[in-house]
Amino acid sequence: MQWQQKFSVDAEAVRASEIRELLKILADPSILSFAGGIPDPTLFPMDALSAILADLQAQPDFYRQAMQYSATEGYAPLRAWVSETFSGPHTALSPHNVLITNGAQQSLSLVATALISPTDAIAVANPTYLGALQVFGVRRPRYVTIATDDDGLSVAGVEEAFKQGVKFLYTIPDFQNPGGMTLAPERRRRIVELAHRYDGVIIEDTAYRSLYYDNPPPPSLLDIEGEHLGLGQWASQGRVVQLGTASKTLMPALRVGWTIAPQALIDKLVVLKQANDLHTSTLNQILAYHLTQTVLHEHVETLRRVYARRRNAMVDALRQHLPNGVHFNLPHGGMFVWLTLAEGMDARALLAKSLAEIKVAFVPGAPFHANGGGENTLRLSFTGYEPPVIEDAMKKLAALIAREYAAR
Ligand code: PMP
Repeated sequence: MQWQQKFSVDAEAVRASEIRELLKILADPSILSFAGGIPDPTLFPMDALSAILADLQAQPDFYRQAMQYSATEGYAPLRAWVSETFSGPHTALSPHNVLITNGAQQSLSLVATALISPTDAIAVANPTYLGALQVFGVRRPRYVTIATDDDGLSVAGVEEAFKQGVKFLYTIPDFQNPGGMTLAPERRRRIVELAHRYDGVIIEDTAYRSLYYDNPPPPSLLDIEGEHLGLGQWASQGRVVQLGTASKTLMPALRVGWTIAPQALIDKLVVLKQANDLHTSTLNQILAYHLTQTVLHEHVETLRRVYARRRNAMVDALRQHLPNGVHFNLPHGGMFVWLTLAEGMDARALLAKSLAEIKVAFVPGAPFHANGGGENTLRLSFTGYEPPVIEDAMKKLAALIAREYAAR
């Protein structure tokens, strides 16, 4: 049977993520992996989770209900929590502006289906989140890539893209995956204004927003738009769609995320989600909701404290040991440090040497570039190990890079 000949055009368009493939190689326990952007499981709030489950079990009717089908829109108390938590001084969200999804990944998928027709153009940062490129790719858009620097997206690039009529701009303004950079406040304002001037739409992915290690990030694009429009106007005139997730702050296996949008878009996304999977796990939504009500605040403070130390360990070691001519920025939050090596260097070849010689894994940066390029870039995640392990591995990696520089 030649299954390849049976695949649909959509199935042809979807590509295996290089990271997922890499994670398979990493089953070898002797490899230190700075590749996956995943939370440290030893920090998961397991006690709080057990307490919530025990509480549920003590209420048999409610516990049964948690195993039942439920509304596509999501568990009402969780929707209400999202709308209250992410309302700004100028955006009074209602639960009708919230759809609970199976992680932010499903939010991306639903938004892509709702908005991208084949041949449409969309704008993405260079580099950007690989999982977004993967899901958008199924819709076969034309990508307009926007250059970035340490302050995030180029405003001129965004203006050019909106002028060309891209369907939307997808952006991760806070501690970007993979680049680690944060969009500067003034750029945020200008980009929101540009969306309004050119009839554009912005998909704002806030996956890492609450994981800040120095100062809280600048106002979100959603908040800025609310201010720009004035109270009460967002529901009818909003063009910023905000995606969020419990994966980075609680636990990815909950598969709980959300989309915040004006109701006209939410209504369409609900129908698409219904067709897709009926609803997000009732039990998991209830668990997520109770975690937000009990441990979330304190837990996120712990994550900030622990990850900040790991971020510092990585950045300090790289500063100390990397040769001149390797660029990286200080990420003020999130999970990643992004390295740019000298032109002509190949991070894929470096990875092969790194795995063979020092057993250190990272992700080569090329796949994060929608239209190619970035062969000399790579992503390191600092969330997985204690500072001494990070320091030791970075010292070895820096020595390997220094050797490659010397051999040029
Ligand atoms: N957006 C970004 C920027 C991410 O890094 C991730 C996870 N890697 C997601 C969305 C998807 O997260 P989830 O589906 O677990 O909510």
